[in-house]
Amino acid sequence: AAKAAGKRCVRSSGEAIDAAIGRRTRLARDLPTALEQGQLRVLYQPVVGVHDRRVLGLEALVRWEHPLLGTVSPDEFIHLAEEDGLIVPLQRWVLEVATRQAAVLMADGWDVQMGVNVSVRHLQAGCLAPDVAAALAAAHLPPGKLMLELTESVLLDAEGGLVSDLETLRGMGVVLSLDDFGRGWSSLAYLARLPVQVLKMDREFVAGIETGPRGRALVASVVELGRTLGMDVVAEGVETEEQVAELRAMDCRYLQGYLFGRPMPFADLRALLDTFDPTVLDGGAADLDSG
Ligand code: C2E
Ligand code: MG
Ligand code: MG
Ligand code: MG
Repeated sequence: AAKAAGKRCVRSSGEAIDAAIGRRTRLARDLPTALEQGQLRVLYQPVVGVHDRRVLGLEALVRWEHPLLGTVSPDEFIHLAEEDGLIVPLQRWVLEVATRQAAVLMADGWDVQMGVNVSVRHLQAGCLAPDVAAALAAAHLPPGKLMLELTESVLLDAEGGLVSDLETLRGMGVVLSLDDFGRGWSSLAYLARLPVQVLKMDREFVAGIETGPRGRALVASVVELGRTLGMDVVAEGVETEEQVAELRAMDCRYLQGYLFGRPMPFADLRALLDTFDPTVLDGGAADLDSG
């Protein structure tokens, strides 16, 4: 019986691999038409202040509603888009949608900053800065209301020229952040070279808070590092009240995670914002941009 079960395991893992290859092939084949067929959509996840939990920022997170496969996560299709150059029109579209929605919120009196994830390919293609400028202009959004989120992969590939493009964006007044900070081995070295004002601490650190004193000490030192460098720190992946209590004690001022809201459609986000009193925000809203 054990042998039969073993055989079954081998066969089903082979089938799983076939299925995975089939899925990947299918996604790669269908992606080129996904944008024009309106299958992509942007969800928004709130970033809140640690003290009053008001929404101070948002992150735009793209999804693909595949007609047969259902919702496909960006972790599955962004790299496919990067392989064949579709990433530039895709990113351009995300930028357009996210800046437009941010402008709608601003017009309603909400002072929130919109975070958009950036692909290194877009930067390498040399059109990130002009595409950002075009999106801001079309949406009539002040540049300081847009935050671009860069990951270490942006920087691993970065030659000097890419850093100067980032400086161009910074010069336009766009806020730059280093996403997933601490996930890779070299983020620390990049901090010295990059014109970023916000650190998004990877959720692995946050998950480590409850593992013991070392985990907490690491998080505290990342928060302190941000303070020393004059950068705001956003803790990613906050899921529990215990984590909030620790982060608050460390004076980490911005939090993002399922505890405060999952990525959600724009309509749901507006409903969430409506649970706050917009008049309270007037004059009191701290920008993520302190630089
Ligand atoms: P990211 O930029 O680090 O985004 C945060 C990811 O963590 C999101 O996954 C979000 O749903 C998830 N998350 C947020 N709070 C929690 C939590 O409390 N617990 C856990 N376990 N996860 C949480 P998502 O939406 O699947 O996006 C994955 C990655 O895909 C993003 O990581 C980002 O790197 C990339 N991505 C998303 N949208 C875009 C885009 O428009 N362009 C590019 N280039 N990349 C994108
Ligand atoms: Mg991000
Ligand atoms: Mg992140
Ligand atoms: Mg990520």
